[in-house]
Amino acid sequence: MSRILIIEDELSIADLERDYLELNDFEVEIETNGAKGLDKALENDYSLILLDLMLPGIDGYQVCREVRAKANVPIIMLSAKGEIFDKVLGLELGADDYITKPFSPSELVARVKAHLNRYQRLVNNQMEVNDIIEIRGLKIDKTARRVYLNGEEKVFTT
Ligand code: CA
Repeated sequence: MSRILIIEDELSIADLERDYLELNDFEVEIETNGAKGLDKALENDYSLILLDLMLPGIDGYQVCREVRAKANVPIIMLSAKGEIFDKVLGLELGADDYITKPFSPSELVARVKAHLNRYQRLVNNQMEVNDIIEIRGLKIDKTARRVYLNGEEKVFTT
């Protein structure tokens, strides 16, 4: 199951985000303080982080920069309408996307899913796929340099 960390000081917004994400089978944790949110993000293995810009403690830019220095987890930044949010700076600091509040909850969920899928594809592409040849009961794993006959590994001595 995907675990999402919400770092958001406005509880009504955090609750709204959590409700919609939980309806979509995500596991959600909320942190309302920037510094504590950063600690949580670094200590745990989240699938994605929803990060508010204006936070008590340290702001969203700083959280984004420090998380990104250590982890590849997708980060979506949120800012309230009227807040001066520098999108370019957010992206340069490593945010993957940004959303302006008030947002449509279904759009938020769709973006979360899109980023998780994209991240999963990247991770999968980086995994090495063994080069395997199979002929009836004979299987040759060229990457691992192993040979199997009817599922049993054959060891050849030279
Ligand atoms: Ca805020």
